[in-house]
Amino acid sequence: MGILDWISQSTKKLKDVESQISDETKDVYEVYQRNVVLEREIAQRTEELRLANQTLLTLEQVWDMMNSSRPLSSVLETIVSSLYGEFGYIYSFIAQKQYDSTNSCYSLRTYLENDFSTNLSALTNDTVFDFKLYPSENSAIEKAVSKKEITYYISLKQFIEENIPNASEEKIEQIVQASDIKTIIIIPVIVNEQFSGFLSVFSPRKELKDDELSFLNLFARQIELAITIANLFETVKKQAVTDHLTNLFNRRFFEDALHREATRSLRTKQPFCLIGLDLDHLKRINDTYGHSMGDKAIASIAHVITNTSRSVDVPSRYGGEEFFIILPGIDTKGGLIAAERLRSKIENYKVEGLEEGITASLGVASFIEQTTNIDELFEMCDKAMYSSKQKGRNQVTLADTDNVTSWQDIAIDAFVDILTQHRIPFNKNLAQDLIEKLQIKQQDSSGTSTQEMLYSIVDSISQSYFPLYPDGSTKNKVLLATLIAKRMNLSKADVDKLKIATLLYDIGNTLMPKEIMKKAAPLNEKEKDEIQKHPIVGAQEILKPISSISNIIPIIEQHHENWDGSGYPNNKKGDEIPITSQIILIVDSYFAMISFRPYRKAYTIDEAIVEIKNSVNSKYSPELVDAFVHAIEEFKKI
Ligand code: GH3
Ligand code: MG
Repeated sequence: MGILDWISQSTKKLKDVESQISDETKDVYEVYQRNVVLEREIAQRTEELRLANQTLLTLEQVWDMMNSSRPLSSVLETIVSSLYGEFGYIYSFIAQKQYDSTNSCYSLRTYLENDFSTNLSALTNDTVFDFKLYPSENSAIEKAVSKKEITYYISLKQFIEENIPNASEEKIEQIVQASDIKTIIIIPVIVNEQFSGFLSVFSPRKELKDDELSFLNLFARQIELAITIANLFETVKKQAVTDHLTNLFNRRFFEDALHREATRSLRTKQPFCLIGLDLDHLKRINDTYGHSMGDKAIASIAHVITNTSRSVDVPSRYGGEEFFIILPGIDTKGGLIAAERLRSKIENYKVEGLEEGITASLGVASFIEQTTNIDELFEMCDKAMYSSKQKGRNQVTLADTDNVTSWQDIAIDAFVDILTQHRIPFNKNLAQDLIEKLQIKQQDSSGTSTQEMLYSIVDSISQSYFPLYPDGSTKNKVLLATLIAKRMNLSKADVDKLKIATLLYDIGNTLMPKEIMKKAAPLNEKEKDEIQKHPIVGAQEILKPISSISNIIPIIEQHHENWDGSGYPNNKKGDEIPITSQIILIVDSYFAMISFRPYRKAYTIDEAIVEIKNSVNSKYSPELVDAFVHAIEEFKKI
């Protein structure tokens, strides 16, 4: 083969190889291209999966919480905070429609505490607590709520201008510049008449994908479900009228029945009788035979009570081993006979497995004949029961009508004095209203309870300086304090003082600087020092002039002293501190912990109990923590 042929052949081969290489390069390039697309798709799918997984986990968490005994506020908080971090939203809140004096507005029911929320509320002169939105009639918010559809704002500026009147241009500009918010999505949350409002999320993204909207919708439905369940739970709880262990009526039903009976009795001028009964030495039975035998003793007594009651009577279990029976149409004489019959039947009842018999101490008081005030009736009956204990137990005592100044009377006098003498800053019209109600209470008694009146007054006063103070808290505090006191064997006189002190211990806060009381963040050292004056200010500046409560003053002054001497104002320790002050400290701490604060979540009941147990020997004595732990169990059942 000549050289030319060889060259020609080689050139051809080379071309073949070249074309082969070119083909392969093309293949490689195509593969590369395909890979890029695939990778992008995988990334997208992974993100979708992550989001779906996150949604599922969050929903699962919310669902679990709804099935637990967590309060609604805590469930809503979890929903709002999960939207914040995990899903990349900058801010989110749940708002509820309200009506203030002139028009409708939306208050933030649950929100995140971060710089943005502080800046947002700073647009108005309100604190984060008081912050409200005032959307105009045609706003996106009103449209979302009235038409039940998702709406959105395409800029933060638009949102502010439409909902926060009177915000200054300058402040709007500052907040807009400082945030990356591109879209604000409004998702309606509506539960029949109970809740009308919306969930809103502040997104850093401009585009709104269908997936995102359906996901937010899903969240809004969870919120609605949580609200519905919480309402149902409340209704069911209210509807429950009997106690599990004994099948007798429960405390709530008894209290309602007592009101009803008093009203009826005043109308028909027919008397009724109240019998109070407390088991003797139950602690001894528990200690000797175990708690289940104690339960059996309680159930046995209940059985005897049921069998000796008429169908119109209202036998009820008031607390652990304390019972009350309402006997309509029965006067003092009849009441004493009925109580004595009951006492003797209990004494002769044989509880299986129990060597000795069980006995009870009883008190009898009668409505109309002895008093026409139900609080007084209850107090008298309770006192008579104590008196039976003191005289040696296993007996019946008729209430004493002499010098019955109930703790409620003393508390009423104190509040009338505080309000008429303007000892605290309080809305004048509201104060006048309350004074009138209190004075009517003092003069005559319809069936309604003075106690309830006092509780709602303390709720209102507390809300005047601390808007987050929940309605009903005062009643619960007095209730828990009383249960602890009974566990600690306090005398009736001390329990009464404790009840009054529980109504008054924080009254000094009304004179504390408003901006500190309403501060949404934890207090700094200087502010703490200031606030720590409240026990003394309350005692010395507000209560000292009221002579009828002079014995309450030391209790209030010392309600922040700790068992180990680390409290304030005087670093008292151990038994130097009155037990009543220690009980107030533990009750106050417990209710503060289970309430939401803008800078922290609400503790669950169990978390609060653990926290309290952790403070044994530092804040509280071991006996107090022990009594608290038992009392809280009882409290949960009421
Ligand atoms: P007293 O004769 O002075 O009434 O003595 P007591 O031991 O019965 O009364 P005290 O008030 O000192 O204590 C009440 C006890 O009742 C303490 C508590 O452990 C027990 N108790 C309360 N509720 C229950 C309950 O539901 N089951 C059981 N087993 N015990 C209970
Ligand atoms: Mg007892």
